[in-house]
Amino acid sequence: MTGSTSIPIESMAEWLSLQDGLLIVAGPCSVEGHHQLAATARGLAATGKVSVLRAGVWKPRSRPGQFEGCGAEALAWLTDIREETGMPVAVEVARPGHAELCLKHRIDMIWLGARTTVNPFMVQEIANAIRGTGIPVMIKNPVCPDLPLWIGAIERIFLAGTQKLIAIHRGFQTHVKIRYRNIPLWDIPMALKKELPQLPVLCDPSHIAGNESLLLEVSLKAMMLKMDGLMIEVHHQPGKALTDPIQQINPGRFDQIMKQLDPLKSDSNATKALQALREQIDEHDHQVLNMLAKRLSLSEEIGKLKKEHGQGIVQPSRQKDLFEDRQKQGETLGLRPGFVETLLRLLHDESVSVQSKHRKGNDGIKG
Ligand code: PEP
Ligand code: MN
Repeated sequence: MTGSTSIPIESMAEWLSLQDGLLIVAGPCSVEGHHQLAATARGLAATGKVSVLRAGVWKPRSRPGQFEGCGAEALAWLTDIREETGMPVAVEVARPGHAELCLKHRIDMIWLGARTTVNPFMVQEIANAIRGTGIPVMIKNPVCPDLPLWIGAIERIFLAGTQKLIAIHRGFQTHVKIRYRNIPLWDIPMALKKELPQLPVLCDPSHIAGNESLLLEVSLKAMMLKMDGLMIEVHHQPGKALTDPIQQINPGRFDQIMKQLDPLKSDSNATKALQALREQIDEHDHQVLNMLAKRLSLSEEIGKLKKEHGQGIVQPSRQKDLFEDRQKQGETLGLRPGFVETLLRLLHDESVSVQSKHRKGNDGIKG
């Protein structure tokens, strides 16, 4: 089932209500109580833009002693809210016992989190627990950027008899300091789409961005790449959330973001889509120019210090280290090496000329 052979996924539209052709999964990171779940779900239902209500019930926490979810008790709250709002409900499962409880409580869909997909033993045990039931499963990418491991998890669930499969791109852990919580590495979900063309692939901008202020730009990118939908974390009072408070948004903001994505949903409105992206580009360009100005003012300070201490402007070992470090970072961020090289040379030349400004004659040349 590898290479160009694709998994025969049933068309999503046959079993889920889509929003302008997109699958929109939204809901709190965690169920924290009956009231919090109901308030969030009612807010989301009122937008009319949600295909599936998501909610974590067992939470994988990095450190012990933190809120770990309400557990099985919350499953009945979820089915109650489904009856009230009409939204099907999805829950994360991390071991076979969780999957069995979801089946028992007639939860509509389950998903495997990034820390589960990474472990083939656990994926297989969950696959065995749901074997033959056909319950729809969403499979997040593993925490590490390993496409075969992601595909392997999808195959294990498929081989257990589930055809209603959806992949979720939630970005990858990285030690490099970036603007996002997880590095998107968009090429990986695109490669998955190529390998399994019939498999719907959603984007989870909440766990990629890690911050509500970056949600829109990540969602826009996912739409531009023609991903099949979004999974977004929504809480009726994000600031008070017991898990992932910084990245969650309230139902009102969720509604706004969906409206801002509207132009991208239909090709007929391509002009507006282009405009939305250009606004993003403008904002980034302004930030880049501000940062360049700050960087060059630091160069000027350095130039003064070097002059006071009789040092030359160009210091080859520092230049070599700097170039190597930035090339490495550029590679991690998916930037073309030739582009990074040209940019670094430009920056370097400008920095040398700023530092030379305080020197006369040939005292500014080389060091
Ligand atoms: C979540 O969806 O709340 C979650 C724990 O996500 P991930 O598995 O992507 O970290
Ligand atoms: Mn979360």
